[in-house]
Amino acid sequence: MTKTSAQRTRRLGGWGFEGAAFSPPTPMLTWLEERLGPSEPFPSFDPATAEIPAAEPLPDLGSAPLSTDDLDRLAHSRGQSLIDLIRLRSGTVSATPAAVARPANDQELEDLLRAADRHGLRIVPFGGGTSVTGGVTVVPDDRPVVTASLEGLAGLHHLDEVSGLATLGAGTRGPALEAALGAHGFTLGHFPQSFELSTLGGWIVTHSSGQESLGHGRIESMVAGLDLVAPAGRLSIPALPASAAGPDLRQWITGSEGRFGIITKATMRVRRRAETLRVEAALARTWRQGVDTVRTLTRAHGSGRIPLCLLRLSDGPETEVALTVGLAKSRFEGLTRKYLGLRGVDRGCLLLVGAKGSPWDVDRSLEQAKILATERGVVWLGAGPGRNWSHDRFRHPYLRDGLLDRGYATDTLETAAPWSKVDTVYRAVRDALGDLPVLCHLSHPYGDGVSLYFTFFFRCPTDPDEAAALWAGHKRKAQNAIAETGAATSHHHGVGFWHAPWAPTEWGELGTDMLRGVAERLDPNGILNPHVLLDPTDRLEL
Ligand SMILES: Cc1cc2nc3c(=O)[nH]c(=O)nc-3n(C[C@H](O)[C@H](O)[C@H](O)COP(=O)(O)OP(=O)(O)OC[C@H]3O[C@@H](n4cnc5c(N)ncnc54)[C@H](O)[C@@H]3O)c2cc1C
Repeated sequence: MTKTSAQRTRRLGGWGFEGAAFSPPTPMLTWLEERLGPSEPFPSFDPATAEIPAAEPLPDLGSAPLSTDDLDRLAHSRGQSLIDLIRLRSGTVSATPAAVARPANDQELEDLLRAADRHGLRIVPFGGGTSVTGGVTVVPDDRPVVTASLEGLAGLHHLDEVSGLATLGAGTRGPALEAALGAHGFTLGHFPQSFELSTLGGWIVTHSSGQESLGHGRIESMVAGLDLVAPAGRLSIPALPASAAGPDLRQWITGSEGRFGIITKATMRVRRRAETLRVEAALARTWRQGVDTVRTLTRAHGSGRIPLCLLRLSDGPETEVALTVGLAKSRFEGLTRKYLGLRGVDRGCLLLVGAKGSPWDVDRSLEQAKILATERGVVWLGAGPGRNWSHDRFRHPYLRDGLLDRGYATDTLETAAPWSKVDTVYRAVRDALGDLPVLCHLSHPYGDGVSLYFTFFFRCPTDPDEAAALWAGHKRKAQNAIAETGAATSHHHGVGFWHAPWAPTEWGELGTDMLRGVAERLDPNGILNPHVLLDPTDRLEL
């Protein structure tokens, strides 16, 4: 019998669940060794031997169950970025929460916040804990920190099939959310790569974007209403299709990263499940040809001519790695390479094009996309490579652990820019990362621009502080380069405390003051996640 995610044991210091793995294929390791040289395995510390400072005694925090178990506190001390893995795997976590609270309903959460406010404690909301910006990291503090795990606020509360509105608990993880809606023939259609572990509330407050965002939109476009509990009280935003009653309060909460309050439930715009999702692949001969094709296809989608749900273009290096990881194990590799050879393409840029709907709609959309792409010189490969990508899309995060086991560190950076600036941003980030192997893809396209997503690799020193400093150096350079081009601080990972030094460049002084004003009104004593979003201290090495 397959175990549900609730029954499986989450891995500490790695992605996902115990027993699941995705080992880096040998050609990928060879590719890295050729570029970075041989490496030494990064230590893997046994959490059972962790020396965790005893939990401070806490005052009465209401009726929400509190856990002071050492491993529970350790597991809730960090998120899922590379630096989190380095710190967890080396046993060098700088602070753990004094306790993990698990409120089962809004009232227990409200009581917890009131008590924490009264006693001067800090509260870190924890959804799936997949933050890659330090959003759930416990920062050393002179006040005790309690992590509020939201797993108890989960499930489908109500489905209005007529309106296509579903009210769900904020702590509902991706698979449980889709299963609950799927039982009624509905879907939210939000599939971030972290889908297996991340939660509805986490998605909303970080401006998450799913892989099918071209078809379904970003998470904020799906939020009709929500309930928030803050130290200052409760905020309930009704689910309305639209309203002209002043600025949209929902937009004040999306992206607030737990700094303004904790979302307990949200009413989401859902739709009938599509019968078919098909992803086909093509190969652009050059990056420029690929970028132009993605822009043209996006516009054809926007005008309703070619309905698509996904477009993703890898640059040359990412294509090389994708072919190594994906195609190398498939029976399509030989055929693909032969086919490309006949068309005079030995390298290129992999383009994935996805459509969803009835089989007839999908056939029609992909046929139209193929005509439009091939008119531009792109070579259409068909469904084989796309099927591999769809099969592995939620397994890729496991690769990172396998690479670190072998001493290669990998991290990602993402931004968004207008189409006219794509090349500038692409070059700027590549230049900032110097000689490191860097992969890039464009995804989440819009009429006016697109997200650029970079993956970089470096040989990981076995000393965790050295590894952290090396990583932070790369990160700072790349983030400075992004800021200098005027591109977005982040497209979908959010701010956390990592990007907090850069985010004000987008808001300006007055904008930053406006956000601070809201935080002070909702959380006058600064107990909620005080280091994310609005604290510009650079703590990358933490
Ligand atoms: C391997 C990997 C792949 C990823 N892929 C994607 C991707 O494709 N698309 C994407 O958008 N992101 C991606 N991410 C980033 C991450 O998964 C998202 O930011 C996600 O939205 C976080 O959800 P979560 O439930 O895990 O939130 P958490 O990590 O638990 O929390 C994130 C932030 O939100 C706050 N928070 C959490 N729940 C609530 C709540 N209910 N109310 C108020 N505040 C809350 C936390 O305090 C924290 O500041 C990826 C991360 C990893 C590690």
